[in-house]
Amino acid sequence: MTGACDAGQAMKILSAAERTVDLGSATANAAISFDSMTASAVVIEIETARGRFRGLGFSSIGRFGHGGLLRERFIPRLLNASARDFLDDNGEFSMQRAWAIVMANEKDGGHGERSGAVGVLETALWDALAKSQDLPLWALLQRIFGHPLDGGPEPGKTRVYASGGHYHAGEAGHFRLRDEVRGALDQNYGWFKLKFGGADEATDHARLLAAIETAGSPKFIAADANCSSDGKAGIETLRKLDELGLRWIEEPVKPLNFDGMAAAAGTIATPLATGENIFSADDTANLLRYGGMRPGHDILQIDPVLSYGITEYLRVIDIAEGMGWNRRDFFPHAGHQAALHLCAGLGLGGHETASVPGPFGGVSDDTAIGSGVATLSDAPGAGIENKPALYRYFDGLTD
Ligand code: MG
Repeated sequence: MTGACDAGQAMKILSAAERTVDLGSATANAAISFDSMTASAVVIEIETARGRFRGLGFSSIGRFGHGGLLRERFIPRLLNASARDFLDDNGEFSMQRAWAIVMANEKDGGHGERSGAVGVLETALWDALAKSQDLPLWALLQRIFGHPLDGGPEPGKTRVYASGGHYHAGEAGHFRLRDEVRGALDQNYGWFKLKFGGADEATDHARLLAAIETAGSPKFIAADANCSSDGKAGIETLRKLDELGLRWIEEPVKPLNFDGMAAAAGTIATPLATGENIFSADDTANLLRYGGMRPGHDILQIDPVLSYGITEYLRVIDIAEGMGWNRRDFFPHAGHQAALHLCAGLGLGGHETASVPGPFGGVSDDTAIGSGVATLSDAPGAGIENKPALYRYFDGLTD
């Protein structure tokens, strides 16, 4: 799958602009508060034989904006390259060449903030590329990299679930949580994921029972521990969770605690999900080698925008497939249009959306949701323009 990655045309990159935006939101999970969270919005303008096109990219949630890295290193490398530098051996624009240009003189390792900066820039370039071919991003990805056509959702469609259930100061009675669960299922999302591990044990247990009761089955509820079950005591918590029969338990231990992950996988039967804080193909390989995760049972959540973009994600999928995993085992973190199109174009397991309004809430307006499946439109690009709560962050940047 890491073969041809060309766009079928020559392309000139005319400009790239970025802005750090405030995502302020008075919610929290077991690990962090989102009050001061920022993100990067990126606009790239390209020119091809078909005209000029603008690509948009937006950070994922959970890491802060990448303005300094984008301004000092990654955008200048892209703009200083000549159009010839991007061409493959057939004289066509190559996203792999573009990725290599952006990553010039970057040493191996050190993933984290850098991978997010490259990810937001690279996905903006994919958006421009798809628009220049008058294709939705999912269709461009399907055309280049193929789709499993395995009886799951067909190209242009993907399973979709809602996540939320954050902790709110002063919350009582779990009424807000119940409303979120009910609202997500009423809107035809396949299942709901709530935060876990950020309150005392009794409160967390009561929240889970309230969510299960509202949904009607534990199979419609997943729990995101945000690493709160790290350490020996955490195994006991996981054993209790295991008895509930949840759809999955997410990120029980810290992202690089592979021993802890293996201990969890060796202890409980409930599927485990993790990977949103793993930012490269190399780190994914280590997780799969040493984390004890079970192909076909557990869930991989590596986030393309946090992990050097779609080009690196294809390497991630290649590595996983080589170790017995399937594309359908991937449910990328965390509610952005890049992941939606990646899922629908490559036939990944499904897409996560946030159940609350905001840039990561729901899907673009031209995406239909029914019976747990999202059907994407044929609008060119990744659809950021069709998601008002996200597109507003580009005000003034796209003129
Ligand atoms: Mg999570």
